[in-house]
Amino acid sequence: MPFEVTATRKRPQTFEELAGQSFVSATLISSLEQGRIAHAYLFSGPRGCGKTSTARILAKALNCEQGPTAHPCGKCDSCISITNGSSLDVIEIDGASNTSVDNIRQIKDEVLFPPNIGRYKIYIIDEVHMLSMSAFNALLKTIEEPPPYIAFIFATTEPHKVPATIKSRCQQFNFRLISVDIIFELLKQVALETGIEAEEEALLWIAREAAGSIRDAYTLFDQIASFSGTKITAQNIRETLGLVGLDSLNALFRAIIKGNSKEAFVILDEILMQGVSPEQLLTDAVNYCRSVLLIMNDIKKEDLIIAPRAAFEPIVIESLSKSQVEYSIALLLDAYRHLKESIEPRHEVELAIAKLCHLSSYISPHELFDMLHNIQRTFKTNEMHALSLNENKSSELLINKTTNNESSDRQILLSELRKKIIGKLRNQNLFLASALDKSAEWQSKHNGLIIPVSNRVEMDILLRFEALIMETAAQVLGKPCAIEVRYLSGQESSENSENCNLRPQLQPKTKSNEPRSQTSVPHDCETIQGEIDQKKVANERPPKKSNPSLQENMEIIGEKEVSPDSLEHTFETQQTGRSDNDEKIASTNQIQFSDNLEQNKPKESEAHVIDVVCKVFKGAVIGTKLSYEPSNPEKSSFAFNLSRNTSYSSELSNQSEEFTDIQDEEI
Ligand SMILES: [Zn+2]
Repeated sequence: MPFEVTATRKRPQTFEELAGQSFVSATLISSLEQGRIAHAYLFSGPRGCGKTSTARILAKALNCEQGPTAHPCGKCDSCISITNGSSLDVIEIDGASNTSVDNIRQIKDEVLFPPNIGRYKIYIIDEVHMLSMSAFNALLKTIEEPPPYIAFIFATTEPHKVPATIKSRCQQFNFRLISVDIIFELLKQVALETGIEAEEEALLWIAREAAGSIRDAYTLFDQIASFSGTKITAQNIRETLGLVGLDSLNALFRAIIKGNSKEAFVILDEILMQGVSPEQLLTDAVNYCRSVLLIMNDIKKEDLIIAPRAAFEPIVIESLSKSQVEYSIALLLDAYRHLKESIEPRHEVELAIAKLCHLSSYISPHELFDMLHNIQRTFKTNEMHALSLNENKSSELLINKTTNNESSDRQILLSELRKKIIGKLRNQNLFLASALDKSAEWQSKHNGLIIPVSNRVEMDILLRFEALIMETAAQVLGKPCAIEVRYLSGQESSENSENCNLRPQLQPKTKSNEPRSQTSVPHDCETIQGEIDQKKVANERPPKKSNPSLQENMEIIGEKEVSPDSLEHTFETQQTGRSDNDEKIASTNQIQFSDNLEQNKPKESEAHVIDVVCKVFKGAVIGTKLSYEPSNPEKSSFAFNLSRNTSYSSELSNQSEEFTDIQDEEI
């Protein structure tokens, strides 16, 4: 017996066998049972989902010797001839190759003759949308008032190309994509029938790959069966079709999350050397990220995710945020779109992977917006208001209320605070929580916390999420809390001067108005301050950071302590800094306070907001403007621009409308 392809062999012969189209079959069965037979039907839907099969079943139902019936016997001459395609009364026409008006005229002439044997003369026109306009027009009259023995069944994958005049004369049925579950079950059945042992994972892969088309699934199954013999395994499919295994993708993304581009490139090379095409790699990587995103969204439906959750590297799911995964998908899809025009597809993949290695420092515009909103909110609180307006009414933090001889109490309080903050953050950002966990003993400073770290990785993470730490600390304390991340005393010199360089501790130069605060400023603040040579700072390039786009934008922004008695001097320091850095700033055009701000000494609150915004955006701010009216806070507003010359900030500029809105929003 000659080999018959599965798609043909498994073609459904009754409405009941029609997979995944229960609405269509139920409606047709019901209308046949009630004898309501239309002159024209239009079946639309994606390829390989059963349109032509349904048309043939309908033809059999109409012409079966025991019919018209909803359950054609499949045994009578009429049924057999329709199944074989030899029936004289069922005429199948390919719309794609019979597009002209002449072809339709021929049909018009033929319909005048009654059927040869059967009850009905049935025209099945596939890909009907390919007919020319004049052909459609020629058809119009015929399908409106055909002889009673005529039925038209049109099938199309593109119903929108069928003129409305035709559609309105047809009973329309929309066929759906078949779900992975159903295809999977059908494949299992085929494997059983053909005596092929198939792994579930392999069949699930085929089902997913078929993308809702049962015909595609059968064709793929045949292809795989032909090289697999009697046993189909996922491993076999991967090797033969050059697919990327989940293990390789896990390894690749582990390297990406670590930001280890060297390791990522090595893995990438290994994958490509196995014969995987760049296209396939990108496709599989997108599917991988998509599955991770679905898992993050707590979607458990198995047919949507490429593998069970346990098969995914836990660190990928735990350490990335949803927006980072979304960004990865966008980036990979973008690389895929560029493949065709690229001089070398491999370069596109490498570029995408290189960009992904900065994934951990990606912040979405939405997150930035949230950060900003939090600043606004913090600023709005009474405490902050008091801080800005009334130096004498300094609201000290709980931890600062203790005096020197209560240092052990303070440590207990600090360790409590540390525990609470880390505990809170653990739910939101595991990476950050573990970085905080690794930090050395926290210290209190005049108006907040000092978090000492021992290496650059931790420094980077903490700096990046500084706003989040501040927010969490404020939640725990019930008061605003400044955060300062610095290297451990021993590390400062060994780890090079980058920390000081990057975030010089610009302390107020003049004496504080408030004697009490002098005693509460921890001694190490002063030590660091002494160590910094401001001129040196001004002349040095900013250090390398994990995110190069940010780094290019990095400008020296003094991290000023936000405390009531430093506010006034903060701006003075900025101005001094500006004159020191004048040349540099002019050339890089990165921080420009408006003239207005320079001429008129800003209000303390203004300097404070500029300070906070600069901190959050770490140098990406190219201009800020604030108008704050202490007498009427409701009328205050502030605005700022972000640099547009890097990919990082072009993301931001997409959201510029949103940011502009803030201008109008009242603080
Ligand atoms: Zn029959």
